Amino acid sequence: MTLREGETELLTAILSRPTAPFREARVKAVLKAVLGRGGVPHFEDPVGNLVAGAESRAAYAALLAPAGREAVPIFVAHMDHPGFHGVRWRVRGARLQIRWFGGAPTARLAGAPVWVSDGAGYEAAGTLSKVRLTRADRGIDTAEVRVSRRGVSGRSPAARALYGGFRFRAPFWRRGTRLYARAIDDLIGTFTVCAALLRVWAGRKKPRCLALFSRAEETGFIGTIAHVKLGWIAKGKRPRVVVNLEASRQLPNARIGRGPVLRLGDRLSVFDPTALFWATSVAQANLDGAYQRRLMDGGACEASLLIAHGVPAVGIAIPLGNYHNMGIERGADSRGANAPSPEFVDLRDVAGGVRFCECLAKTPFRPDAAWVEQREAYRQRFERQHGLLGRG
Ligand SMILES: [Zn+2]
Repeated sequence: MTLREGETELLTAILSRPTAPFREARVKAVLKAVLGRGGVPHFEDPVGNLVAGAESRAAYAALLAPAGREAVPIFVAHMDHPGFHGVRWRVRGARLQIRWFGGAPTARLAGAPVWVSDGAGYEAAGTLSKVRLTRADRGIDTAEVRVSRRGVSGRSPAARALYGGFRFRAPFWRRGTRLYARAIDDLIGTFTVCAALLRVWAGRKKPRCLALFSRAEETGFIGTIAHVKLGWIAKGKRPRVVVNLEASRQLPNARIGRGPVLRLGDRLSVFDPTALFWATSVAQANLDGAYQRRLMDGGACEASLLIAHGVPAVGIAIPLGNYHNMGIERGADSRGANAPSPEFVDLRDVAGGVRFCECLAKTPFRPDAAWVEQREAYRQRFERQHGLLGRG
């Protein structure tokens, strides 16, 4: 399975944009432009999450309001990746105090290369120093970035306008079917949902599905919590199913290169059994066997947040190497075990993920009818054999 014409360009456009928790504007700008060109309606909710599939709050509500049997799929992917914010200049233009947001490696941090951006034209390279880990030594709390003057155009933006993350040989690169990048989680989910929407809107007159491109997932689902608090996603009579797209650390039976993973649950919960039954049948029918299923309990994802608010949800994970830039599998450009490393995925898994989402959007899901055929299969089996019960 491979990406189609134009999709590789979209992927590289997304991967080359800077992002960090609460600083997703550059990624969002790419999505808005490409969704606009593809005729996919979209708008921003009051906290800056990007909603696609409806052009306004009223259209979103109208989609979910009427009673009906067919569920509306709502795809969710987050636009941020762990990174830092500038706090203050210790030496203007040269030494930047930073605070880290989200997961991070904890080894060999001193001297690790980083990028710094203001999202508006200032791009600089630097290295980490004076790193302080969080209390449990699970990640980075604060550090200082020594900004190299190379590539800086004379001015130094206010420290609080700056953000950044780990830097490698390039924002992304390819080797065979492997795609390496400074930030795959969850730009790959963002790409996957966006590419699937473009396919769906290219092929049908009035598709009925929604997507939420969320903010600040890495610090605890902050953008999606804000969206849930609006009350829109749980309101209305029509059934709905959230499909959460994530890049997740590979696990046994969730291996890089063997296809997208239908995620049966996460660290907090198991996902909706009826929706999982539907999603499994869609995968069986459309992915030529190149998909995996497992309960990925290495972390929690936004599907559990939605389930906690009464919205049925499932998840799809693209198996990820060097999760949160931690040297787990290591490989190219890795600074070592648990040290800063590029994340990587297999492009075949990404292409499978796009196909999976496209097919989920196009395959009607009627929760009330999902088990009818299965019950009929059980009944027929019973009919054939029940006579034997009496002879025990
Ligand atoms: Zn993450």
